[in-house]
Amino acid sequence: MGETVGIVGGGIVGLAVGREIVRRRPGTRVVVLEKEDRLAAHQTGHNSGVVHAGIYYRPGSLKAQLCTRGRALLEEYVDQQAIPYRRCGKLVVAVDPSELERFDALEKTARENGVPGLRRLQGAEITEVEPHAFGIAALHSPATGIVDYVAVAQAFAREIVGAGGDVRLGAEVTAIDRVPGGVAVTAGERHVVDHLVVCGGLQSDRLARLVGGSKAPRIVPFRGEYMQVAPQKQELVRGMVYPVPDPRYPFLGVHFTRRVDGTLEVGPNAFLALSRDRYGRGSLSARDTAATLGWGGFWRFAGEHWRTGATELRGVLSKRAYMRAAQRYVPEIGAADVVRAGMGLRAQALAADGSLVDDFVIDRVDRVTSVRNAPSPAATSSLAIAEYVVDRMA
Ligand SMILES: Cc1cc2nc3c(=O)[nH]c(=O)nc-3n(C[C@H](O)[C@H](O)[C@H](O)COP(=O)(O)OP(=O)(O)OC[C@H]3O[C@@H](n4cnc5c(N)ncnc54)[C@H](O)[C@@H]3O)c2cc1C
Repeated sequence: MGETVGIVGGGIVGLAVGREIVRRRPGTRVVVLEKEDRLAAHQTGHNSGVVHAGIYYRPGSLKAQLCTRGRALLEEYVDQQAIPYRRCGKLVVAVDPSELERFDALEKTARENGVPGLRRLQGAEITEVEPHAFGIAALHSPATGIVDYVAVAQAFAREIVGAGGDVRLGAEVTAIDRVPGGVAVTAGERHVVDHLVVCGGLQSDRLARLVGGSKAPRIVPFRGEYMQVAPQKQELVRGMVYPVPDPRYPFLGVHFTRRVDGTLEVGPNAFLALSRDRYGRGSLSARDTAATLGWGGFWRFAGEHWRTGATELRGVLSKRAYMRAAQRYVPEIGAADVVRAGMGLRAQALAADGSLVDDFVIDRVDRVTSVRNAPSPAATSSLAIAEYVVDRMA
C-alpha cells in the first residue's frame, strides 16, 4: 500500500500542498482535515484577491522567491482551469515629497525582484494609467492581477478528491502524537499517517504546540476591514491604487482593489483583533484575547507601535477618518461613496521579543512539516509554497 499524508487546514496553502502531493507522488493518499464546515473559511476566503508581482519583499527572502514563482504557476493554473482572473495592474503612489526616499527604496526592491514590466511614472503618465488618481510619483506594475482565491482553493480540493484523496470538513484536530512509524492525528476519529503537514493559518502556533514545536513565533490576529465603493463611482479606478507602505510593517496600507466580480473595494486597515475566527465588528473571544494580552511579546510590540495603533483606531471607529487616508490617492471617492463591506483576520506572527516576523516560516521535524507563518502574499505563492514543502518532505 502507498503512504498516507495528512494535512491540517483546508485553506489555500494546505490544499495546494495536498494537490502537489497527489500530482507528484501517485499512489500517495492525502487526507485533508478542516475544522470548519467549508473550505477556505478563514484567510483564504477573506482577502483582497490580489495576485502580487513581488514589489515589496526583501530580495532573496522566501516571500520574494515564492511569490515570483507562485504568480507564474497560478497564472498557468487559472488559465487551465478557466478560473476568472484579470491582470488589471496596479499603481503604488507617492503623494508627498516626504515619501520619496521610501518610494525609491521600494523601486529598488521591486527591480531586484524582477517585477515584470515595472515603470516609474510621474505627472500625466500617472493619470494615463489611472485618470482619477493623484500622486507625485508612481510605480506601475502591469502584471499584478486579481482572482477569487476561494475558487482556486476549491479547484485544488477537486484535484485531491479526483486522485482518491479525502477532504474532511468539520474535522478539528485536537491532538497530534508521534507513534512508531507514523503520526497519529485526532480529529474526532484517529488517523495514523506517514507524514503530516500543518497549515493552520490563524491557529498555527497552537497546532505547533500540539506537535511539540517551539513556542515562537506566536500568532496575534489583526483585523482588516473593507469598504465597498458605490456603483456610480466604481469606474473611477481601473485596476488597483496602493500607497507607499511603511517599511516597519508587513501590511501594505489601505488601497483601492478591484474584485473579479467588477466591484471596487477600499481596504484593508490593520488593527488588533480580539478573536481569531469571528468576523462581526464587536467580536471577542475570551480565549484568544487572553492569549494575546497575557503574553509579554505582545506588550513589547504594543509598547513600540502604540502610536500607529492609535491612528489605525481612528479609522476603525470612523468611516470618515478611514476614507480620509484613502482619499489622498483618489480624491473623488469619499466617505459618502462607500459602505462597510466584509473584513478579514490576518495571522500575524510575532517573535518572542515582540518583533514582527516578516518572512514565511516553514519548519520540518522528522515526519511533521509545519507552516508557521504564511501571511500575504501566501495566497499568490501557494503553488510555489506547495513545491517547497513537498521538495523537503522526501
Ligand atoms: C485581509 C487580508 C488580505 C489579504 N490579501 C491578500 C492578497 O491580496 N494576496 C495574497 O496573496 N494574500 C493575501 N492575504 C494573505 C492570504 O489570504 C493568506 O496568506 C493565505 O490565505 C493563507 O492561507 P492558509 O491556508 O495558510 O490559511 P487559512 O486560509 O487561514 O487556512 C487555514 C485553515 O486551517 C484550518 N484550521 C485551523 N486549525 C485547525 C484545526 N485544529 N483542525 C483543522 N483545521 C484547522 C482553518 O479553519 C483554516 O481553514 C490576505 C490576508 C488577509 C487576512
